Amino acid sequence: MPPRARPLYQRFDYRGIVSDAESLRFEPAACAGLLAMHAAGLAVLATGVSPAALAVAAALGVVRAFGLTAGYHRYFAHRAFRTSRAGQLLLAGLGASAAQLGPLWWAGHHRRHHQHSDRPGDVHSPRQGLLWAHFGWLLSSRYASADLAAIRDFARFPELRALDRWHFLPPVALAGACYALGAWLGAAHGTSGPQMLVVGFVWSTLALYHVTFAVNSLGHRFGARRFDAGDESRNSGWLALVTLGDGWHNNHHRFPRSARHGLTWREPDPTWWGLRALAAVGLVWDLRPPPAEAYAAVRATRRASRPFSHRAASTRPTLAAHAKPNRSPTRA
Ligand SMILES: [Zn+2]
Ligand SMILES: [Zn+2]
Repeated sequence: MPPRARPLYQRFDYRGIVSDAESLRFEPAACAGLLAMHAAGLAVLATGVSPAALAVAAALGVVRAFGLTAGYHRYFAHRAFRTSRAGQLLLAGLGASAAQLGPLWWAGHHRRHHQHSDRPGDVHSPRQGLLWAHFGWLLSSRYASADLAAIRDFARFPELRALDRWHFLPPVALAGACYALGAWLGAAHGTSGPQMLVVGFVWSTLALYHVTFAVNSLGHRFGARRFDAGDESRNSGWLALVTLGDGWHNNHHRFPRSARHGLTWREPDPTWWGLRALAAVGLVWDLRPPPAEAYAAVRATRRASRPFSHRAASTRPTLAAHAKPNRSPTRA
């Protein structure tokens, strides 16, 4: 049944929509991990907050978001640019510190998402319920393991396979470092080890969880569709702001190999800016720009929307005019 035909409460409840038994079987480790992280966030009631802890949370949020958007997403899932073997391990480690499992797990499932976006086979389509797309699929035993068949190109690197297996080490090390920093700064800076652990590490990790999850749920439900990408992907300004540019999700689904998701200056894409800066100092290279047709579509849309334009009626681009020609694997 299409989402809009369902009663409101069912749109937020995936039970009864996701029907196969394997998908509905809970993965105990995933449930425990997600629950424990949220419960740990509540420990702020005991530790309190301080400007120092909030500053660390903000810094860790931004830096690790870049690890996810530039590393896990644009590099490992889409190969939108190139870097050295050491560079890719660094990006993988930075992404892993966000406690969203390993790079092969993350990018493999994301490639499947693009291959079957909002159709049968999509791992997290909101057509199966917003909660399923947001985090329900993460709790499912069906997706507990990495989909190595989808990411053979990176699975051949032993260090990435090792990181995928020991994915919890970077976040545990970071949590320990936060505790040590808080203890070192101490009462003189209004903070403590437990407070820096809870606010600096846990809060920023929770924020990263939910903005990443929101791309999969809200990013396929709410916002503008510039292109007919053959799915429900949307462009959302506020989501782009909190995801360092990944909220231009409709642009991205239409041109998945592009390293740039925001197509105009009105569509800020901090991840793209960061990649440009890394390219300037030679740490990454061969950034794939959006194809000329992407910019042509933006110009056509702008021309057509000018008031009193004679051409408005005849040249207004339709979604179909810039439709994805066919379904192709995301790495094609
Ligand atoms: Zn993607
Ligand atoms: Zn998507």
